[in-house]
Amino acid sequence: MTGFSLPRVMVLATGGTIAGVQHQGSSYSAGQLTAEALLSVLPDMSGVADLSAEQLANVGSQSMTYAIWCDIVHRVAEIVRNDQADAVVITHGTDTMEETAYFLQLALPANLPVILTGAMRPANAWGADGPRNLFDAIRVAAASVSVRNGVSIVMNGHIHDARYVQKIM
Ligand code: ASP
Repeated sequence: MTGFSLPRVMVLATGGTIAGVQHQGSSYSAGQLTAEALLSVLPDMSGVADLSAEQLANVGSQSMTYAIWCDIVHRVAEIVRNDQADAVVITHGTDTMEETAYFLQLALPANLPVILTGAMRPANAWGADGPRNLFDAIRVAAASVSVRNGVSIVMNGHIHDARYVQKIM
């Protein structure tokens, strides 16, 4: 008999609106919820990926730092070295997602898929887009394992190459 194992997808959370909480009125705070909380609202993914999650930071991405970038690079390099996952999903604010994606494309070992995702609406907002984007990112990560390495952004039903994507207001 041959065994079938699901792709191992590790979610590394860094904050952003996808982990944001809206207050009374229209104000909200980015980077409030944990990686576990983001995964807890997804539908059952036990047939899609073997999921794990870690919190690397919890900031609005306007406050992303070179130190956090280095933490991401070191953690992903360690994941590759220790064979801890087949693909990585990074949750991130959208303000500087394109810069992080481009940096990671240059800095990471190119032998596993890395998918960034985020949201335009906080997690508790009406019509929150984060759960759908995270769901899609995990599915793309799991499906990419045997066909595509490198860094992509998955948002709003689209897959973007890290080298060419830009947030436009
Ligand atoms: N200010 C937020 C951030 O970049 C915006 C967002 O996530 O869309 O963290």
